Amino acid sequence: MEPILFLAHTEPDGTLAGAALEVLAASLALGGPVTVGLVGAAVDAGARQIAGCGAVRFLAVEGEAFAQPRYATDAAAAEALCQASGATLILSSHTSRWARAIPGVAARLNGRADTHATSIAIVNEVPAVTRWFYRQRMEAVLTRAPRPWFVLLESGCATAWSGEAAEAPVERLDIAAASRTTVTGVRAPQAGEETIRPDAKLLFVAGAGWTKKQADGLPHADRAEDLILGFLRKSQASLGGSKSLVDLSGEGQSVLKCMTHLNQIGQTGATPRHPKGLSTCCHGEEPHVVGWRFVTERRAINLDANCGWARGKADVVYVADAFAVMEQLNRLFEKALDADVRVLQ
Ligand SMILES: Cc1cc2nc3c(=O)[nH]c(=O)nc-3n(C[C@H](O)[C@H](O)[C@H](O)COP(=O)(O)OP(=O)(O)OC[C@H]3O[C@@H](n4cnc5c(N)ncnc54)[C@H](O)[C@@H]3O)c2cc1C
Repeated sequence: MEPILFLAHTEPDGTLAGAALEVLAASLALGGPVTVGLVGAAVDAGARQIAGCGAVRFLAVEGEAFAQPRYATDAAAAEALCQASGATLILSSHTSRWARAIPGVAARLNGRADTHATSIAIVNEVPAVTRWFYRQRMEAVLTRAPRPWFVLLESGCATAWSGEAAEAPVERLDIAAASRTTVTGVRAPQAGEETIRPDAKLLFVAGAGWTKKQADGLPHADRAEDLILGFLRKSQASLGGSKSLVDLSGEGQSVLKCMTHLNQIGQTGATPRHPKGLSTCCHGEEPHVVGWRFVTERRAINLDANCGWARGKADVVYVADAFAVMEQLNRLFEKALDADVRVLQ
């Protein structure tokens, strides 16, 4: 088996995120010699975290210049780590940081990069990755001859590596961190609180029904937002939206302020991986439901017993008023009495 580089950037606290540990497990499972390559302001905590993984070497590019996600410095670090390790197969998690830098590094080294891979395994004695095409409708298995081959693995597709922390002998590479780009701050697309939580066990989806006229003939967007945010804070679920709901803001209609296009699930949105999903006030049309491909257990609340979810797309459909259900659910959360509620957490 060819030499492998497990490439990871550290988090602000110096540790490795769950997604990186998933890639480490996938790298080790291939059976070849694995070198760890860490990038960040400080890498000791991350190296200690995975000291017992059995890697042949621990390489690092460390320094304040590598704290910020920035193409020039991330690409320089990845290139140096790749060359120092002598690896021909480089695995990293599909973070926005690596997705931006790695294709350029592959071009510099005359290699190839594959993004959005969902698994890697040895097939017919060569590494092969799986990847979905055409908005998650077709899955392909790919192999490539050119090296180095960079593979960015999606999160939530492998079990994260875990083991005892220990001291790791880190070899630090001294590389120039020249860049014309200075990071002056972060401007987040969302003014309010963060509602997208890729690691959450539950995906809570809000559809356009939350903003429509209700039984009293009036829309209740403010009430909807209170109920949704109240539920998210208590359950720590991740918030998704239908396209109709996230598009409403562009039409000047009454909208949920906590929702942006980043929350959109579906054919033209995201395809997250959560063990459970709860859809509310959303019709469950195919272009939306295709984004639920990797959500294992699905439930929906809709007033319409004939909605798309009821046609085999959800495991359970509650034909009910989502306002009333979520109000009751939030009340149960507050009292923490109901066992069913704990199942959602
Ligand atoms: C090329 C293409 C790509 C697309 N991509 C996407 C995509 O990525 N993601 C996506 O979501 N859509 C996508 N769509 C749009 C998709 O087809 C649907 O139009 C959209 O998902 C509908 O959103 P909705 O279910 O929230 O709204 P609606 O269809 O308006 O449904 C609202 C639902 O809320 C229910 N409701 C209302 N009040 C209540 C209440 N009090 N309690 C319970 N239920 C209530 C109603 O019964 C209704 O079923 C795409 C369409 C096309 C053509």
